[in-house]
Amino acid sequence: MRIDLHTHSSASDGTDTPADLVRSAKAAGLDVVALTDHDAMSGWSEAARAADEVGITLVPGLEISTKLRHRGVHLLGYLPDPAYPPLVAALDRILAGRTERTPAIVDALRRHGIDITEDDVRREAGGSVATGRPHVADALVRLGVATDRTEAFTSLLDPGRPGYANRYAVPLEEMVPILTAAGGVAVIAHPWGRSGRAVLDVAVLAELKDLGLAGIEVDHQDHSAEDRAELRAIARDLDLVVTGSSDHHGLGKIDHDLGVNTTDPEQYERLLSLAARRP
Ligand code: AMP
Ligand code: ZN
Ligand code: FE
Ligand code: FE
Repeated sequence: MRIDLHTHSSASDGTDTPADLVRSAKAAGLDVVALTDHDAMSGWSEAARAADEVGITLVPGLEISTKLRHRGVHLLGYLPDPAYPPLVAALDRILAGRTERTPAIVDALRRHGIDITEDDVRREAGGSVATGRPHVADALVRLGVATDRTEAFTSLLDPGRPGYANRYAVPLEEMVPILTAAGGVAVIAHPWGRSGRAVLDVAVLAELKDLGLAGIEVDHQDHSAEDRAELRAIARDLDLVVTGSSDHHGLGKIDHDLGVNTTDPEQYERLLSLAARRP
């Protein structure tokens, strides 16, 4: 069984449509794939139809923008009730923050001398409900300002660069209980990716477990071998589920091919047993 529990489609900032993503997952030899778009569940129905057609198990999920001590933390949620009002309200607030941020980024880039408009970004975002910096990056590539997403982030969109703007994120300690009450399973994405290690130490993870946290994503491209070994030991001590995933974004992120990291079937079963409803 090959299981990949973290992927993005064009419902957020991946480049494949939800159906194409599921077909690619099948072609990559996966048996189970989770669709975890940023702050959005709008890709679920299309992905589920495609999964039925090609014969692969789809786990409906999402990756929620949260914050802890002013640092961004990505929280994966699997199999929540998509109509649970507190979940819907939290996502609405995050998506509004995304929408409000786009003009702020565009203004900042224009002040920096780049002739980019909100329409340029909207065109790249297409059907996505979760407009993000990757769409701004795509617009910058199309305008010839950057060669790819990575260069656009490094030169203009990362924190501290001229086109950076902050946006709203839900406090993590609020989101874990909401997701759990929605019947979902909460797993912290790439906990030590980028700058997470300082925030998500063992004491904090233990507190989050008391709030309902079910697991941590250990095998992720942002984690070194040492990070993975340490996180695995923490998960064992705290009895947290360990996941592994690609964080695939289609052509939007290099080195994140489907199935590049996978989740152990036993851990997947544990995760399912914690969900109110199974796929
Ligand atoms: P946002 O959600 O709009 O703040 O943008 C953050 C998202 O951009 C992340 O979730 C990644 O998917 C993506 N991202 C961040 N850094 C890079 C990078 N260097 N290259 C490509 N995508 C990136
Ligand atoms: Zn993304
Ligand atoms: Fe993430
Ligand atoms: Fe992701």
